[in-house]
Amino acid sequence: MSAIHPQALVQEVTALPPSLVERRMGIGSGYRTRPLGYWTGGTSRCHLRVIEGPEPKARAVTKIDRIDAIIIDVPTVRGHVLSMTTMLTQSVVLVRIRFSDGSEGLGEGASIGGLSYGPESVESVKLAIDTYIAPALLGMDADAIAAASAHMEKAVKGNPIARAAVECALWDGLGRRSGLSVAQLFGGRVHDRLPVAWTLASGNSQTDIDEALRMLDARRHRDFKLKIGKRPVKQDIAHVAAIAAAVGDRGTIRVDVNQAWSLTDARYGARGLQEIGCVLIEQPVARDKLAALKTLTDSYEIAIMADEVLQGPADAMRVAANRSADVFAVKVCQSGGLKPASDVIAIARAAGIDLYGGTMLESGLGTAAAIQLFATVPDWQFGTEMFGPLLLKDEILSEPLEYKDFSVTVPQGPGFGVSLDDDKVNFYRRDRTVSLRGAAGVIAGA
Ligand SMILES: [Mg+2]
Repeated sequence: MSAIHPQALVQEVTALPPSLVERRMGIGSGYRTRPLGYWTGGTSRCHLRVIEGPEPKARAVTKIDRIDAIIIDVPTVRGHVLSMTTMLTQSVVLVRIRFSDGSEGLGEGASIGGLSYGPESVESVKLAIDTYIAPALLGMDADAIAAASAHMEKAVKGNPIARAAVECALWDGLGRRSGLSVAQLFGGRVHDRLPVAWTLASGNSQTDIDEALRMLDARRHRDFKLKIGKRPVKQDIAHVAAIAAAVGDRGTIRVDVNQAWSLTDARYGARGLQEIGCVLIEQPVARDKLAALKTLTDSYEIAIMADEVLQGPADAMRVAANRSADVFAVKVCQSGGLKPASDVIAIARAAGIDLYGGTMLESGLGTAAAIQLFATVPDWQFGTEMFGPLLLKDEILSEPLEYKDFSVTVPQGPGFGVSLDDDKVNFYRRDRTVSLRGAAGVIAGA
């Protein structure tokens, strides 16, 4: 059985040998030409040849065969003191999807400080994936990510972090299979490097100052986000002022209140922070206090950023419609995946809202996923905070992300451009630690 080649017809003014025609036309192996006749016009005669080749094989559909989710717990380099909790360990869910053609895709779901930050924890993420998402997606076309995502949204309401972890693994898998980076799948990169801020959250002003100066000297970070909201506002402003004075013109200072302030606190805080040269306040009030967020946005020059309130495109639309924030912290996990995060970005850009690439303190894997998307967006007016792996005591990627000159390099290669160090993952996986503790308990009890 043969089929006519898409290029179909070749015309030659003279009847050349078929091998020469085929060479001149750059016809690939497996194809051949066959004379089809000729036509004459004036004194010239054109010989027609048709290009034929094998019938194209029906493309085999690659299916989602298996979805595994594991929790890993990795210690942080120091205590990370937030308004709602102190983190000594970061826990994330790693997702590995196996496809019917033998390929794989990796994804990650993370949150900050368990349920003290938001309605999802790593435990709930794993449960949602194992119990609801995996059974719904098994057997589906692996390349049809939009269909899989729509199916996931039908099977699981809310739970954006769980959906994001799986959606990311589908994008990584598609990228690996096609030999394209996820940035290419999202339209191609605009940036090879992205600026990266660092979060100062030791809980102590002098420790934070020392840390900031070390980062500046090492040219690792020059934008600093201070976690505040645990102490009274007046003390917090004094803390920020001390760090701002030490950093001076060498960097910028922003704060993240993680919803801790009332509107009254926030008014006082916004005025005080503005006066000491702080450039941005992130999520000063509770995520459901949209009117208060708008009041602050309208009342002060200092930029007000929405973070926890943005749980996907619908929330982004709500905030943008009333211009209740100046800046969006775009987070892949919080948005429900790469595509919804890209929708959040589109809404911000259309509404004239500035962008900041936010993190849920993902490991190198989830960080690489976000970087692939963020590299395709022209303007990050407030930069990014893609420092997740630097807060962890150990690296779980086989090749770490490259941080230098105040920025991170966008990984090259198919998918997210990174791979896991399986020994490290096995070392930190919670079910192994629990079984070791169990074994130790048995021995201790013996
Ligand atoms: Mg935040």
